[in-house]
Amino acid sequence: MARYRGSECRLCRREGLKLFLKGDRCYSDKCAFERRGYAPGEHGQMRRKFSDYGVQLREKQKLKRMYGLLEKQFRGYFEKADRQKGITGTNLLLFLERRLDNMVFRMGFASSRSEARQLVRHNHFLVSGRPVNIPSYIVKAGDEIQVRENSRNVERILEGMETVARRGVPQWLEVDKSNFKGVVKMLPTREELTMPVQEQLVVELYSK
Ligand code: SF4
Repeated sequence: MARYRGSECRLCRREGLKLFLKGDRCYSDKCAFERRGYAPGEHGQMRRKFSDYGVQLREKQKLKRMYGLLEKQFRGYFEKADRQKGITGTNLLLFLERRLDNMVFRMGFASSRSEARQLVRHNHFLVSGRPVNIPSYIVKAGDEIQVRENSRNVERILEGMETVARRGVPQWLEVDKSNFKGVVKMLPTREELTMPVQEQLVVELYSK
């Protein structure tokens, strides 16, 4: 599957905030955004005024990049969210949160979403007892995600479990570190999703 292969730190600088795409490095003084908190490129330090369209576009890019998705996939989630009952923006956020790679990251079995995606693809997890290696698999409330027994000494998983304390595990998840598993107690409400995004702007952009 296609994926972004450029510099992840450049994405944070473009969006003007830390997207936490590189695990532990994001919390260290090596973070590129901490060192150069302005947009990349020759004119990166110039003040820019965005049109309404520009503001909506930046918000969409920010959300898409946070979850490491490409346009086609992201647009697909929007269309599904739009077809569902309820508030489209909230539905969209929920679809993104319910991806298996995101859940693995949130539970602390990986230190970034891109790492979680790779670990899922490499078959290191069971979902409610069944092996699943599809990062976009949509997890339900009540599902249990467990590291497979043979994978419990994978260094990247152990590192993720060690460093998750920095960001904490959301309250809608319950993690049992000693048994390498976590449960989705319930799906989060909009208020519980605390990342700084205005999903309404994304809806406006795609509804033009
Ligand atoms: Fe973004 Fe800093 Fe992490 Fe790089 S190290 S991905 S700039 S938060």
